[in-house]
Amino acid sequence: MAELNFLSVLTVLFAATTWFYFRKPASSIQDNISLNSTYDYIIDLFFISQQVNYWPRGRVLGGSSSLNYMAYVRGSRHDYDLWAAEGCDGWSYKDVLPYFIKSEDNRVPWLQDSAYHGKGGILKVSPGQATNLNTYYGKAMQELGYDIIDCNGWSQIGYEPMTLTTMNGARCNTARSFLQTAVMRKNLHISVNSQVSKVLLKNKIAYGVEFIRGNRKHRINARKEVILSGGAINTPQILMLSGIGPRKHLESLEIPVVADLPVGQNLQDHLFVPLNFFPNVSLAITPEKAGTLWNNIVYKTTGKALKHLGNLESILADTYLPFPGCTKHKIPSDEYLECYIRNFAQTVYHPTTTCRMGKTDDPTTVVGSDLRVKGISNLRVADASVMRYVVSANTNAPTIMIGEKAADLIRGIDTVKDIKLKLKNVKS
Ligand SMILES: Cc1cc2nc3c(=O)[nH]c(=O)nc-3n(C[C@H](O)[C@H](O)[C@H](O)COP(=O)(O)OP(=O)(O)OC[C@H]3O[C@@H](n4cnc5c(N)ncnc54)[C@H](O)[C@@H]3O)c2cc1C
Repeated sequence: MAELNFLSVLTVLFAATTWFYFRKPASSIQDNISLNSTYDYIIDLFFISQQVNYWPRGRVLGGSSSLNYMAYVRGSRHDYDLWAAEGCDGWSYKDVLPYFIKSEDNRVPWLQDSAYHGKGGILKVSPGQATNLNTYYGKAMQELGYDIIDCNGWSQIGYEPMTLTTMNGARCNTARSFLQTAVMRKNLHISVNSQVSKVLLKNKIAYGVEFIRGNRKHRINARKEVILSGGAINTPQILMLSGIGPRKHLESLEIPVVADLPVGQNLQDHLFVPLNFFPNVSLAITPEKAGTLWNNIVYKTTGKALKHLGNLESILADTYLPFPGCTKHKIPSDEYLECYIRNFAQTVYHPTTTCRMGKTDDPTTVVGSDLRVKGISNLRVADASVMRYVVSANTNAPTIMIGEKAADLIRGIDTVKDIKLKLKNVKS
């Protein structure tokens, strides 16, 4: 009974702080998977029999930055240069780098002299290591011929210990950083426990929003513009509820069409498949093992790290965890890995591109380079949904950059002039 109560409380708390989305499969899974052990049952529960991926989104101030893993990664310069080449004017790497720098208060010791990082910004970025294992991974990568790099600098090919949006060990989400800084302003009103149900539109001009709080509908008018930042799942939902979306879909739901746009289409995300191993205690690398006197002596005298802990091949051959349904294939083989990926790939929670940015005559776009919704006045989107393509990185820092740039676009000012000047001689 105690357990039940605890679980119920957990479920209620969870439901209150995340939008509980589950992604349905686009097509049925390939193999007929048989489930016959407790382990199978757990996998079954989450990934197989339901054929869904759990897709949490933060339902709190700070949104998904309040429940994410806090990795601070901006993406490659090629990502943004491709956006610009395909019609996102003003969004090349050279254009967006100053906005990344503007937000940042970098406290990572080895990055203090880097021109690619900012100091004194609102978003705190700190080293992420809890143990000194990173040092060993770094040495191992160097043995393999990779450089130690700053993955938010010029090149992304190499190894870098993780940097996180934290300060003094605590999460630095967007509420804690940006909202907390502005909360005393007279022109900022935050309405919590409020769910926007639609944008108010007249003659294709947005003039406010309708929201529900405490079982009551409220309407609030905008003096200038309405800016939607509901994220890559909810912004499209709000737009569609307002009559902005694919005509056929809206008509099937009897929503009057205000603008026929590909809202909610072009969804992009990062997939991953975990590689799981039976832990073999004699091979497992723990901080205690990595930091032994013998290891240190071997490393200091030979320059080789962790040699005697075993190599990857022996770990793979001995301890690969066989996945139910794929065991008819030889482990490991290409067929086995394909079966495994097709059945067990899951999201890393980076949905983007559902209100795609680009040229206004591009039929795949919902917003132009100024983030205005096409064909509607006084309505913009500023969140992960506008990304032209999902960046080759986690998406929090890029979304914050989009917010920073949106603020300048909306106000028609350039707050990063000085940073641009400082970057004049920096490769970008
Ligand atoms: C589990 C998880 C781990 C992640 N890990 C990382 C990581 O380590 N590093 C990284 O860079 N990125 C990570 N991400 C991704 C990153 O957090 C998101 O890309 C980013 O937060 C997206 O920002 P957003 O503003 O577009 O949307 P969100 O952060 O989701 O914000 C949307 C906000 O709008 C609110 N909202 C939505 N609909 C309505 C409505 N109808 N009415 C009122 N309010 C509404 C939501 O409650 C929320 O507050 C992770 C995401 C998840 C879910």
